[in-house]
Formats: sequence, structure tokens, C-alpha cells
Amino acid sequence: MENRDKETMKRMIRAAGLRATAARVATLELLQKVASPVTHADVAKHLAQIGVNQATAFRNLNDLNEAGIVRRAELGDHVWRFELITDGKHRRNTHPHFLCVDCGSVSCLPEIDLTESGFESAGKIREVTEVLLRGHCHQCE
Ligand SMILES: [Zn+2]
Ligand SMILES: [Zn+2]
Repeated sequence: MENRDKETMKRMIRAAGLRATAARVATLELLQKVASPVTHADVAKHLAQIGVNQATAFRNLNDLNEAGIVRRAELGDHVWRFELITDGKHRRNTHPHFLCVDCGSVSCLPEIDLTESGFESAGKIREVTEVLLRGHCHQCE
């Protein structure tokens, strides 16, 4: 993933019509650092270090999600996870996620073009929002 600095993140947030607060910039910095989607609790824990409370952390995640900077994923375990949308295209680069049913770890898998040509041409699906694979990871043999 390309590495974006603080200034670029501020620009992304402002371009989406939001104020570039320290909490929002810190949220994007965390999401850029991690390799897989993080939970609200992960984000809240990180932001607590700079004095941001849980409610603000959660509201920021929702704002960034609505602004199309952050994607929200629910991977069958009733936990919302959040990740940075890497190329800024709203929900157009849906990539599959792998959830280990033993340890609960989540990984991002390479992007594949499922939304446009494949499923939608079958006629029954308007938009694919989540592609989920479940199984056992290498750590859980
Ligand atoms: Zn596992
Ligand atoms: Zn992902």
C-alpha cells in the first residue's frame, strides 16, 4: 500500500467535507499501519492514548465510513471492522476477507473484480458489499 503522510490524510478528510481533527487523522494513521481490518475497540484503545473517548472514536469511524474514506466490514461474527479504502473509489474495490473460525483472525485477500462483471451480470445482485471466506489459518493446525 502506498504510504501517506499526515498532510495527505488531512487533505483526504477535508476533500470529503469533514474537519481534519487530530482524532480523525490518528484513526487513518492507525488504519494505514495495520494489515487487516480493525475493530472499534482497537481504534478506541489507540485513540485513548491521545485523550479521545470511545464515543468520539466510534462517531469518527462512522463519519469516515460515510465519507467513503473507510470501509466497514461485518464478517459473520457480528463485529464491525474498519479499513482504509486504498484508492479512494467508493466501495468499488471490494476485496475478499478471510476469517479463521478457530482464532478469529482476519486477513485481507487480493482484490478481485467480482462486483461489475461477475455477480451483477447474473441479474439478481445490485451491489456486492462483502466477500467472505471462512476456514482455518496456518496458526490453527
Ligand atoms: Zn486461526
Ligand atoms: Zn480488507
